[in-house]
Amino acid sequence: MTRNTVEKAPVTLLGLGAMGTALARAWLVAGHPLTVWNRTPARAAALAAEGATVADSAAAAVAANTLLVVCLLDDASVGEALARTDLTGRDLVNLTTGTPAQARARAAWARERGARYLDGGIMAVPPMIGVPQAGGYVLYSGSRELFERHRQTLGVPAGTTYVGQDAGFAALHDIALLSAMYGMFAGAAHAFALIRKEDIDPTSLAPLLADWLVAMAPGVHRTAERLRSGDYTEGVVSRLAMQAAGAPTFLSTAAQQGVSPELLSPYFALMRRRLAEGGGDEDLTGLIDLLVR
Ligand code: NDP
Repeated sequence: MTRNTVEKAPVTLLGLGAMGTALARAWLVAGHPLTVWNRTPARAAALAAEGATVADSAAAAVAANTLLVVCLLDDASVGEALARTDLTGRDLVNLTTGTPAQARARAAWARERGARYLDGGIMAVPPMIGVPQAGGYVLYSGSRELFERHRQTLGVPAGTTYVGQDAGFAALHDIALLSAMYGMFAGAAHAFALIRKEDIDPTSLAPLLADWLVAMAPGVHRTAERLRSGDYTEGVVSRLAMQAAGAPTFLSTAAQQGVSPELLSPYFALMRRRLAEGGGDEDLTGLIDLLVR
């Protein structure tokens, strides 16, 4: 077999925090020559023992390879780390979490310095990196050509999903998905709070909760179809009027259980507003329009 003798693309990686270290290990294990730099040099020691070349400055690391991946704390740290480096001719892949506006500004900033730019949003935690069956992936946006050129290398630590030429789209998708996750966590927090003072083992509620959330999740496809068609009433089985009528049951139960309604009430308030606007025959899709200012 020639698999192990095929030359793997060299990679420079700036940032060896929890995520950067996981990325570095994945490329090293896959046989990619890897040059790393970290502001605090001690964090590179273990990786040096595993085969990484440790650069003594960000500028030296950037000079080492065309493909330059950065995974730092935030956008400001990217600016600081790259301030005294020569980005001319570099393919900069920024896996640092930021806002869409920061990604767009960073893309323009990179272009001015002679670099091509791809932004990434990591949909994984470090233990999922380099473990394909864990299902982690990275959202990419910006130069399509750059994405295609490095797709194979970028696919080593985690799956790759390209979401558009607009450099801000990876961050936007990232934040959208994580926002939905926080909504889910908020709902789960309320559910656990409801049983907290009862003789109910949280570990007996957890599997019911997880299965219920999974069963409900595909509803987002119907929501998307309704947003696209503009018809929020077609095929509705759980009318907004019915759901809004049920709101007092939820709020009374919270009160009876001594649980603050602060996570739930804003959603019910939106239901009431939509109902008042005449959306009783819709499902909950119309609430989205109330959020968009
Ligand atoms: P860590 O806090 O573990 O590491 C932060 C890294 O940024 C370190 O390498 C740190 O260097 C470096 N850094 C911070 N400020 C500067 C600066 N001013 N100049 C140079 N380097 C700097 O964070 P993670 O590795 O966990 O996260 C990195 C990115 O990955 C973040 O944007 C995060 O949102 C994203 N991410 C993380 C996930 C996770 O679960 N960990 C999940 C998905 C995305 P030093 O060692 O010197 O402090």
